[in-house]
Amino acid sequence: MKAFEWVSPASVEEAVGLLKSAPTSREMDEAARPLAGGQDLLTTMKDYLTRPVRVVNLKSIRGLDKIEGDGRKGLRVGALVTLAQVEEHAVIRRDFPGLAEAAHSVATQQIRNLGTVGGNLCQRPRCWYYRLEEAVCIKKGGSECFAATGENKYNAILGGGPSWIVHPSDLAPMLVALGASVNVAGADGRRTILLEKFFTLPNEGSVRRENVLQNDEIITEVSVPASPFAARSTYLKFKERESLDFALSSVAAAVELGADKRVRQARLVLGGVAPVPWRVPKAEEFLKGKTLDAEALAGAARLALEGAEPLSKNAYKVPLTQTLVRRALAKAGGVSA
Ligand SMILES: Cc1cc2nc3c(=O)[nH]c(=O)nc-3n(C[C@H](O)[C@H](O)[C@H](O)COP(=O)(O)OP(=O)(O)OC[C@H]3O[C@@H](n4cnc5c(N)ncnc54)[C@H](O)[C@@H]3O)c2cc1C
Repeated sequence: MKAFEWVSPASVEEAVGLLKSAPTSREMDEAARPLAGGQDLLTTMKDYLTRPVRVVNLKSIRGLDKIEGDGRKGLRVGALVTLAQVEEHAVIRRDFPGLAEAAHSVATQQIRNLGTVGGNLCQRPRCWYYRLEEAVCIKKGGSECFAATGENKYNAILGGGPSWIVHPSDLAPMLVALGASVNVAGADGRRTILLEKFFTLPNEGSVRRENVLQNDEIITEVSVPASPFAARSTYLKFKERESLDFALSSVAAAVELGADKRVRQARLVLGGVAPVPWRVPKAEEFLKGKTLDAEALAGAARLALEGAEPLSKNAYKVPLTQTLVRRALAKAGGVSA
């Protein structure tokens, strides 16, 4: 690990000032970095993937660890709230069940006790070429994505190129499905960003980043609006190892049903298959006005994977994800798949 300066600010303003003022490069891998639970940042530092000159410890800031609101008023979750707190929170379990399920699906209890909501959304990709110090892939300033022609079993089938990473966060697809926003503070002020616009594809902006945050910006809070579909939300994740693993594929679904059991609106977001949480508006639109019978579930599953372009070793993700789409929609709608 490269030597770094360790600072513990007392306020958000101080933190973003410290991020801004560090002697820094434009590349985020060498800029000052905020640290929350440290479950990802420290690993990337130990492997020299990130080499921050300064580490800004967000845990010294008070007030970023609160959960407020409910399904009627909307939910506000501080960036330092842990994944364990989200999965155990009685109001979240009742009013936003998919969010509690997504938090529960992450790693192990120990990691969920330390990992935070802000850190989970901003964690770096898990592609093994990216994580291997010696492999200077396109995300580390090299010229190619080795996964494109190499070992690509875990990589993207949608939205890939010129990098084929998949976004690793389990919270992200569910929060996008729920229409969440992030409140962001930076040295030049604060802004609110719809989470759907927060994550960036490799061919948008910089291929070395996964979101729109500037080096001096931090997430302070995630805000989830009240909605008629949040109470019927669910998150299904398929992983290679049952004990702990990242998603080979996951589906966040939420539906609003009318009194006649027909779908008024549906939200469907795929995880583990694209560099960003992958919303599928065509499938959402298709479901409107339909009862969730086998034909509707199959149609939504087909549309959700439309345009998938598997690499040499990950075509299995197409039928896997289609199955998860059917099951997630059925679960959210309270019918059998
Ligand atoms: C063995 C293992 C298995 C895992 N499995 C899963 C899994 O199945 N699903 C899953 O979703 N995750 C998984 N993770 C990742 C884990 O959930 C995340 O690493 C964790 O949530 C990150 O949170 P943190 O608070 O520890 O972040 P940190 O490690 O402190 O930070 C992570 C990144 O986010 C940045 N950051 C932190 N907080 C903020 C903020 N408020 N604003 C802006 N940037 C910020 C940091 O600079 C850093 O780049 C796994 C991790 C491990 C080690």
